[in-house]
Amino acid sequence: MNVLVTGGAGYIGSHTAVELIHAGHKVIVADDLSNAKAEVIDRIETITGTRPAFYPIDCKDKAALDAVFAEHKIDAVIHFAAFKAVGESVQKPLAYYRNNLDSALTLLEVMEKFGCRKFIFSSSATVYGPDNPYPYKEEMPAVKSTSPYGQTKVMIERIIADYVAANPDFCAVLLRYFNPIGAHESGLLGDDPNGIPNNLMPYIGRVAAGKLEKLTIFGNDYPTPDGTCRRDYLHVVDLAVGHLKALEFAKDKTGVEAVNLGTGNGVSVLELVSAFQDANNIKIPYVFGPRRDGDLPAFWADAEKAKTLLGWEAQYSVEDMCRSAWNFAKNA
Ligand code: UDP
Repeated sequence: MNVLVTGGAGYIGSHTAVELIHAGHKVIVADDLSNAKAEVIDRIETITGTRPAFYPIDCKDKAALDAVFAEHKIDAVIHFAAFKAVGESVQKPLAYYRNNLDSALTLLEVMEKFGCRKFIFSSSATVYGPDNPYPYKEEMPAVKSTSPYGQTKVMIERIIADYVAANPDFCAVLLRYFNPIGAHESGLLGDDPNGIPNNLMPYIGRVAAGKLEKLTIFGNDYPTPDGTCRRDYLHVVDLAVGHLKALEFAKDKTGVEAVNLGTGNGVSVLELVSAFQDANNIKIPYVFGPRRDGDLPAFWADAEKAKTLLGWEAQYSVEDMCRSAWNFAKNA
């Protein structure tokens, strides 16, 4: 298939582009490089031997998207391009709603114009919000998140469901990610955010590299076994393969499906720090700080639907995630 990957120079998008190319698909990347580097395209080529077509465009730019669809016969779209910093979204809600909603709407309009009917959407476990019990199951109400960022995912899921209801020949898969970490085994692709990282693993990577002094663990008084938050961390390569499976599923299907991509296991912040230290033989200095606003004590996936519907199951261990994350971070 000819697959348009928006945000294909980003962390998850680049790993997905690699898996798509390995599986024989033609990849067209659209990425405005607002939080990614152009050299990622070179690195995708180094890993796969194939250079994806690359358009440095903003998905809100309808004319630019139109030109991409006119140039390539796009069979499916995987939509990653979005603002994703939870804390920043609380400070700048309008920017988040404008960017994330407008990008998705523009993309769907251009897809409609060109008769493209396969859509894989980058959603998040945050759509389950604070009220559902874990493990999260897809049939639970996914209508309230704790941040404007998360709320853009809730809203776009709804827009897509409404669009599918009106267009029964369309197929959309809403992939609800848990916590992707780790990096490509080549060490060429990984999570390398601009500025000080918000997320746990890139922060640990910078501490390990000596670029940051110590990790602050946000809260050790949660009602969890060791007092720190528990999350469902999964290897980014497993996550990328999940997109490939979703694409294969959507190929000859119609309708909309939400699917969790997680391992089904909860790991605490302290356990992850300890796993990183053991896997890489590096000490990570840390201190306990106050809780971070909006963090939930614990959640993880019910991973059954991904298995039965997509034939997908996470393969990599927490040790693999920690080793590969450091293999990338030490050269980043
Ligand atoms: N966390 C932390 N220190 C940091 C960054 C994150 O203790 O510098 C914790 C955070 O409170 C949460 C977990 O690590 O419990 C995962 O946070 P992350 O931002 O990576 O993902 P989230 O689950 O918030 O999407």
